[in-house]
Amino acid sequence: MKVKHVLGISGGKDSAALALYLKNLYPTLDVDYYSCDTGKELKETYELIEALNSRLGKDIKTIFAVEPEKETPYKTTFDHFLAEYGGYLPSSTARWCTKKLKLEPFEKYIGDEPTISYVGIRGDENREGYISKKTNVQSIFPFRKNIWSEDVIKEVLANNNIPKIAKLYNSLSPNHLKEDILNRVNQPISPSFRQGQKLEFLLNSDVKLFNRVVFEYLKENTNYPVGLLEEFPLIDNDEVLVLDDIFKILDESGVGIPAYYIKKSYQVEIDGKIETGTYSRSRSGCFFCFYQQKIEWVWLLENHPALFKKAMVYEKDGYNWMDSETLEELSKPERVKAIKKEHFTRMKRQLSKRTTNSWKDEIIEAEGLGCASCFI
Ligand code: SF4
Repeated sequence: MKVKHVLGISGGKDSAALALYLKNLYPTLDVDYYSCDTGKELKETYELIEALNSRLGKDIKTIFAVEPEKETPYKTTFDHFLAEYGGYLPSSTARWCTKKLKLEPFEKYIGDEPTISYVGIRGDENREGYISKKTNVQSIFPFRKNIWSEDVIKEVLANNNIPKIAKLYNSLSPNHLKEDILNRVNQPISPSFRQGQKLEFLLNSDVKLFNRVVFEYLKENTNYPVGLLEEFPLIDNDEVLVLDDIFKILDESGVGIPAYYIKKSYQVEIDGKIETGTYSRSRSGCFFCFYQQKIEWVWLLENHPALFKKAMVYEKDGYNWMDSETLEELSKPERVKAIKKEHFTRMKRQLSKRTTNSWKDEIIEAEGLGCASCFI
């Protein structure tokens, strides 16, 4: 049965690096690239997608929930859905935008074919990607030590599957590992031996062996798309990629890092002294994304004033991007100064605690918040 391979390009660094990584390592893997365009991304994001387009040698398909100016009179899908929601701006607690602008078009795009979706969550991140409710889609995380999604791990390590997994390990393990591994495989999950511990043990014993066991299990027992393949080359890859590797891939490919990451200087007066801090945007996504930090709003105000104004226009009838203040309030010189002051002081404090003073640490810190579909 034909299995489709897809990779969503969000405009962020990790999905871009993953596309390049898979193309370099597995040129025969026929991956379809797609991007869900909200119509509200930064121009730097569109530039990154364009640069990638030419490096991948294959078009990144733009998909929409409704096609602007064709299926809707609105110029962007965001504006179409905002009208449908009566001007109610999305927020972290009412995130209709991700559902309507990212997840639904993705599910429409893949249809009912068995599909493997590659997701660029890195080995130094502690989050799960979106797992589709559609049973014909399976997510794979090639940058992590554990490439499998939570639902697969849960099934493979379920206590009632111990005999099947033990049989596979028994036939696939090299002799010197067999006894140790089988002891652990046969140990049921319990409050004193949790699923995470079992998984860690099996991965640390031999990642490739674990992957082979999962692959054979999926083939023999499930309809997961990976199990429908004759072979799946990623099971023989035990590389774990972290932030530095992502920047290296982007640099070496010539695509470069997304321009919004490039630090810009700002000055702020603290206790009568002029201090110089740096700011940038920490992620891709819509220019008005409610996940951005106050300092990122200030960055938008000072580096993309026209976009900041557009974001302000959306704030009406009591709907705002932030709970704490409106953009008009935030843009007042005294507020801007206070935000910079707070940011500078916080960064200085954090810098003194870090073992390295890499500016990349700031990206990792900011990544904790947000939505995997928009920012990977
Ligand atoms: S980037 Fe932010 S505003 Fe845009 S769709 Fe994603 S969560 Fe919503």
